[in-house]
Amino acid sequence: MYGLNLDWEIEPGPRTCTLEDYKGAEARWCPGCGDHAVLNAVHRLARDERWPTERTVVVSGIGCSSRFPHYMSTYGFHGLHGRALPVACGIRSRRPDLDVIVITGDGDCCAIGTAHWIHAIRYNMNLTVLLLDNNIYGLTKSQTSPTTRFGEKSNTHPKGSFFASLNPISVTLGIPNASFVAQTIDWNPPHLYATIKAAHRHQGTSFVRILQRCPHFTPHVFAPAQQDLNQVLLMTHAEGIQLEEPARKLFPNCVEHDPRDLAAARRLADREDVYPVGLFYRKEGALRYDEHTATGIDFTPQQKLDALNRILDRFRI
Ligand code: SF4
Repeated sequence: MYGLNLDWEIEPGPRTCTLEDYKGAEARWCPGCGDHAVLNAVHRLARDERWPTERTVVVSGIGCSSRFPHYMSTYGFHGLHGRALPVACGIRSRRPDLDVIVITGDGDCCAIGTAHWIHAIRYNMNLTVLLLDNNIYGLTKSQTSPTTRFGEKSNTHPKGSFFASLNPISVTLGIPNASFVAQTIDWNPPHLYATIKAAHRHQGTSFVRILQRCPHFTPHVFAPAQQDLNQVLLMTHAEGIQLEEPARKLFPNCVEHDPRDLAAARRLADREDVYPVGLFYRKEGALRYDEHTATGIDFTPQQKLDALNRILDRFRI
C-alpha cells in the first residue's frame, strides 16, 4: 500500500489491520474465564478502529485480568498491585500522544488501589479504564474481595463474607468530576464491544465495570443472570450505548435512562434486584488534568533549565 511521489519519497497508505496485529502471547486464563471475552472484544475494537500499536499502552496492576498486557501486541506495563492508575496517569501526563488503556480487577482497583481510583476519576485524564470484576481474588486462589457479596464463601471467609459489598459504580458516581461511567457483562459480546468502543471514544477518564465470570472459583455468581435474561436491565437512550436491533432483542428488560441525569444514574446503580448495563453517566467537557500536566512538554532542555532557575530564584534570600 505504498506509493511514490515525484520526489521519490515513500507515502504510507491507509494502515491495514488484522486481529493478528494486536494478539500477543497465548492467553493463560482458565477455560471459560470471562477475561477471554474482554480480550477478544479489545482485539476486535483495536483492529476495527486501527489503533496504532506503537502509540497504544495497556497498563495493569496485579490479578488474573492484569495479565492482559502480555496478550496484546502493543506497549504494556504490568505493574504493582493497585498501582495501574497512577502509572497510567504518569504516562498520560508526559506522553499525551499515547492511547492509554487500563486493565484492573476488583481486588486491584477497589481494595489496595482505592485511593488511586478515586483520584484518577477526579483527575479525568484521557484514559480508558476497564474494571474486570469477578467478585473474588482469583489469582491468589479465592479470597473475599471488596465486591464479594454478603454471605459468599471464600478461603478467607469459609462461613461467608460478613461485610456489605462495595458497589464500584455507586462509588465512581460519587466522585467529583466523573465523566463516563458504564457497566457491561462479559457474556454478551455485542454489548461488551459497544461499551468499550464508546468508552474508548470518550475524551476523559471512561470507567467501565465489566461483570466477569470466574468459572473456577465463583461459577454460581453470574450464572443466574446468564440463564434469566430479565435479571439484566438494559439502559437505553440516544446518548447511551447503541446496539443493533438483533443484539438489543437479547435484553427483554429495558429502561430509558438519560446519561446526563446523575441523580437517576445513582438510583439505577443502587438497584440490587437487577444488573443495570449501559451508560449510567456521561459529562462532556469536564476538566481534564492531563491538559494541564502537558504544559511545557515541548520545552527544549535549555527552556526547562531556565524555567527551573526562575522558580528557584523565587526562594533566593
Ligand atoms: Fe479467570 Fe477465575 Fe481462572 Fe482467574 S481463576 S483465570 S478469574 S476463571
